[in-house]
Amino acid sequence: MVMLRASLCFILAAVSIAAAAPTNRLAFDSLPHARFEFTGPVGERIHANLDNWLLRAPQANPGMLEMFRVRDRQPVPQLVPWAGEFVGKYLISAVQALRMSDDPRLRQQVSNVVAELIATQADDGYLGPFPKDIRLLKNWDLWGHYHAIQALLLWHEQSGDPAALAAARKAGDLVCNTYLDTGKRVFDAGDSEMNMSILTAMAMLHRVTGEPRYLRMAREVEQDWERAGDYLRAGLDGREYYQSPKPRWESLHDLQGLVEMWRITGEPKYREAFEHHWRSIRRWDRRNTGGFSSGEQATGNPYTPSAIEACCTVAWMAITVDYLRLTGDSLAADDLELATLNGGLGAQHPSGRWFTYNTPMDGVREASAHTIVFQSRAGTPELNCCSVNGPRIPGMLSEWAVMAANDGVVINWLGAFRSAVKLADGTPVKISSRDEIWRSGWTELRVETAAKNPFPLRVRIPAWAVAPKLLLNGKPVPNVAAGSYAVLKRKWSKRDKLELSFEMPVRFVPGANEAAGKVSLYRGPLLLTYDQAQNAFDEDGIPPVNPAKLADARVVEIKARGERTSAATGAVSEPWLVMDVPTADGRPLRLVDFASAGASGTRYRSWLAAANPPTAPAFTQVPADGARVPLGEVRFQWRGQRRARVASSQNNVTSYRVEFATNESFVPLLLATNGGSASRVVLNTTALSRKAGETPAPLFWRVVSFGENGETILDVPPARFTLDPNAPQQALPPEPKPGPNGELIAHSLRGDAAPQFGEVKSAKFTTRDAEGTEVNGRDQMLVYAMPVWPEEDFTIAVRVRLSESQGKRAGQIFSGWAAGMDDPLRLMVDGGKVFARIESGGGFSTPGAAIPTGSWQHVAAVKRGGTLTLFVNGQPAGSCAAPEFTTTQAKDCALGGNPHFTGNEFLAARFADFCVFARALTAGEVHGLVVK
Ligand SMILES: [Zn+2]
Repeated sequence: MVMLRASLCFILAAVSIAAAAPTNRLAFDSLPHARFEFTGPVGERIHANLDNWLLRAPQANPGMLEMFRVRDRQPVPQLVPWAGEFVGKYLISAVQALRMSDDPRLRQQVSNVVAELIATQADDGYLGPFPKDIRLLKNWDLWGHYHAIQALLLWHEQSGDPAALAAARKAGDLVCNTYLDTGKRVFDAGDSEMNMSILTAMAMLHRVTGEPRYLRMAREVEQDWERAGDYLRAGLDGREYYQSPKPRWESLHDLQGLVEMWRITGEPKYREAFEHHWRSIRRWDRRNTGGFSSGEQATGNPYTPSAIEACCTVAWMAITVDYLRLTGDSLAADDLELATLNGGLGAQHPSGRWFTYNTPMDGVREASAHTIVFQSRAGTPELNCCSVNGPRIPGMLSEWAVMAANDGVVINWLGAFRSAVKLADGTPVKISSRDEIWRSGWTELRVETAAKNPFPLRVRIPAWAVAPKLLLNGKPVPNVAAGSYAVLKRKWSKRDKLELSFEMPVRFVPGANEAAGKVSLYRGPLLLTYDQAQNAFDEDGIPPVNPAKLADARVVEIKARGERTSAATGAVSEPWLVMDVPTADGRPLRLVDFASAGASGTRYRSWLAAANPPTAPAFTQVPADGARVPLGEVRFQWRGQRRARVASSQNNVTSYRVEFATNESFVPLLLATNGGSASRVVLNTTALSRKAGETPAPLFWRVVSFGENGETILDVPPARFTLDPNAPQQALPPEPKPGPNGELIAHSLRGDAAPQFGEVKSAKFTTRDAEGTEVNGRDQMLVYAMPVWPEEDFTIAVRVRLSESQGKRAGQIFSGWAAGMDDPLRLMVDGGKVFARIESGGGFSTPGAAIPTGSWQHVAAVKRGGTLTLFVNGQPAGSCAAPEFTTTQAKDCALGGNPHFTGNEFLAARFADFCVFARALTAGEVHGLVVK
């Protein structure tokens, strides 16, 4: 009680200090002062996080704060560049947890950690762990401050503690004193995705305090964006997020700044850019688990078996909460539910002791303290980017489970919980849900309030709901549709009873690319997963599931808690859902929910081979989502499946049909093309315009793939465009223009003859004669234009004679490197061996093959679908898996060095007969190049 009164005083005090800037209205808003109590399986996870992480992490990892105290001591602490974020991330999740727990120990813990953090703040406002002479100038120090400022603002909002707001302001002032009107630019701090997120913190500070300097600082960073992630312009010109300049996950925290800037300024460009990026990630990079990222970034391929980092899923969920606030679109809440119940809580061990770094679609669960142990130090054995960030996944429930909408309340979370919120006029409302509808298909909602006037209650009806039924005091509510909110406006009474029920059939989602021929099975929002622990056979022996017989799938009764006693561990938590599904050979396949799979360290798979696999879906590409499209001839283009990916070739696409409609349900159809096998069609949009009538609203389009086993539509929100007679002529994406044999580059390099195909951008060399062209291994290379890199198949081939002087030094025969994790191909010499390598959402390398110095060798790399093969002197010398397709920012390539990185990787060598083909050459053709 005493504490409550103290909090109230804080709130009053805070109001007098903070003169918030006026802001633009969000469709929905979070209720930071709401109280939640989650029960059921998700409630257990929240409690486990509290007991085994939040209440222990700072004590078991005292370096979380101590690193701030010893920042100017000797020897200079050797920290990872992002170490300053740990305490901020921890606190953000802990404040979120406070809204969901009455545990006085947690309040004390957060209060203490905040107080200790503030006590480390330097006189100039510095709140990081790095030495005085480089404050905010290097490392990911601004990124650390972004997290610290956000954490302090959240705690201030929660507790009213004026010291927290004062510390956040002081840190913001240091950012301004360092970078505003000083001639210094945030750009020069480097690591732009991370450090430029300070924009988001400065805009938040402005919104809370009204201080104009913070907004000016944010606008300065906005200018620097143009030389880095270019988030605003890239969001307005139709580029997909994965094709924007900095598609790493940290950039999502910069995108949050677009929402802050819209709230402050109301300028539509910020909102449009943000919505475009969100939809782009949703459409191209959201995984079957609801998680996000492929090797820490967006790649435009959600099927690739690369790492899905916990931090990336946190960032995706954070911008999805923003998108939900901005638009009030129930589908965004569906995405939060999917992420929370699968990839999100799948990253948390049920014990609450640890989060993963990587939560793959198929694989194992490793603790982050295991996978990325390199981040640990004395005093911080368990701290890393993901261990401190993952707890925001359950924490964010407090931001979206129940929200405010103007005059009413929105129920997004349909699991078991109780909450106490307030209407805009301050009237308290209690809302509860009795059961887990995502598991049982049924729940009862209660609304208790003393409100005298009617107010609307919005209840989310998920898009996955089949035959949704909502009963109000036993009577059906009309117009309850999946994928929307049911809105009930009435004067609510304690006696009102709402019953919500859905049918819960098992459904399948067909895979594409690496997952072609496979399916993901869902029941409601739960992704069903093979787990070694539940089946007698191993993953290579999983029988194909039978999509035609899914109606026969049955729920296996879950044993009572504690019934299973594993000798070593006592009760390992039970899965939330266990099902037996029919397979092609009749053997039962037991599947569990994804969040529970692999909890014992066993192997699991969520992409399952299917008998008579469904046709792979197609992704719309041109026009870009949200584009303005002129009247007249317009090309519509998509990424389809170009060849048989499985031996049976049963899921081959035979044709595509393009459909247009004025709504996302595509009923009625406005226009549909005849089936065709090409992955593009040119249409006269005047006809579309006539059919659409006068409505200026967006039109929707999608592509249906047809094959032997039926038709498939991609399970993402359909692309949209507006017809606009004033729109400029369609700008088509550049395409490779190969020669008759697929040549993109062909250059003999013998004598001064120009390339037969392709273009030299620059050439620095020592000698050039009839034998070839020689570079020195120090500062010379030959750079060629590569305006468009082939996405799927290509071949690189060259004759090379390594100079004796190269010794054991590493060097590049060929390099297409464009940026970190964006290297479509390199042929690298290291330790006397040559390797073919790709970096895209992960590293891929063939085995090395010995390459002698002083004699001519012919080296080639062939990428064919999901395989990269190295050839030496016409003989295959090793293969590796590779992404089915890669999207790259590379616009050139080089022989003898890396065209964009001036490290010590030049190669002393002589080159001849260089060629690049936009197709995969056969072994015979590669051999033909050698003997030519
Ligand atoms: Zn991480």
